[in-house]
Amino acid sequence: MRAAVFANPGSIEIQEVADPHIQESTDAVVKVTATCVCGSDLWYYRGLADRESGARIGHEFIGEVVEVGADVRNLKVGDFVIAPFKYSCGECAHCKYGMTANCSSGGIWGLRGVDGGQGQYVRSPLADGTLVKVPGKPDREMQRHLLALSDVACTGYHAAISSRVKQGGTVAVVGDGAVGLSAVMSAAILGAEIIFALSTHEPRQQIAKKFGATTIVNARGDEAKEIIKDLTDGVGVDSVMECVGTAQSSQTAFDILRPGGTIGTVGVPHGLEWPAGKMFTNNFNVAGGVAPARVYIPTLLDKVLAGTIEPGIVFDYDFDFENIQGAYEAMDARTGTKAISFLD
Ligand SMILES: [Zn+2]
Ligand SMILES: [Zn+2]
Repeated sequence: MRAAVFANPGSIEIQEVADPHIQESTDAVVKVTATCVCGSDLWYYRGLADRESGARIGHEFIGEVVEVGADVRNLKVGDFVIAPFKYSCGECAHCKYGMTANCSSGGIWGLRGVDGGQGQYVRSPLADGTLVKVPGKPDREMQRHLLALSDVACTGYHAAISSRVKQGGTVAVVGDGAVGLSAVMSAAILGAEIIFALSTHEPRQQIAKKFGATTIVNARGDEAKEIIKDLTDGVGVDSVMECVGTAQSSQTAFDILRPGGTIGTVGVPHGLEWPAGKMFTNNFNVAGGVAPARVYIPTLLDKVLAGTIEPGIVFDYDFDFENIQGAYEAMDARTGTKAISFLD
């Protein structure tokens, strides 16, 4: 089978690798029908995060179950499934508390001997706890929306839930990557009345508007802060969804938050520090972290199947799987928001 492999920073290769087989009785093997590249894949692509040369990569995929272990109860061969970006048991204390990304026997695809999601087949550990069954055989258009639930839609939703978006609230989203755009969608689902989307990138502004942004703030940093302060009569917003994770994006989030407001942070932290004094003085709340995607997928799946949301519109770059290098390059250069490939 063919799979993406990290060669060196800046270099992703498609290689022939061994077909996966059931190893544990709780495993399933999934034939991947669609996979994608994540903004977080760019950290090792850019050489900013460690990844061994030769490692399997990718953590977002959907597909069809082709083999199940003897102890798999909820899935059968032929089922179509969504894989959350982390596998989890569904039964440990953390899973039962809703923190499936912190499962005591779970992990992320592509590490510790577990297959990456950018490949033709994937062995899923803990299949019952991990994979979410989708009714029927979704067509490609539907698969775009389903694949978005693997990570970005759930991570954006986690930003909205963590930042306590309320019906009628005034909110802002910092970050216009696929997660930030998905946070805009999620704020709209939760009933926010005014949604500021910070974006200086025209194609992404268009997606933000489709997802329900009421005001595009075509600025960043201090300039964005001044605009939002002006538009909220100097008050600031109730909720900020911080979807980048850098010092600047975090600073902006604190600058535009009203006293007593909440930041939902879902960008992997890179060099940010929280201002303890300012947080104390202003009763600022901060929540968020790695999204428990497995918990959110059923909720968002219902909305996708009902046609209420179309999270797959974040995919604006389709690539031939054998040319995955081009997809990484496009996302690195921001010429693509999120890259998708169909494998069958
Ligand atoms: Zn991801
Ligand atoms: Zn667990």
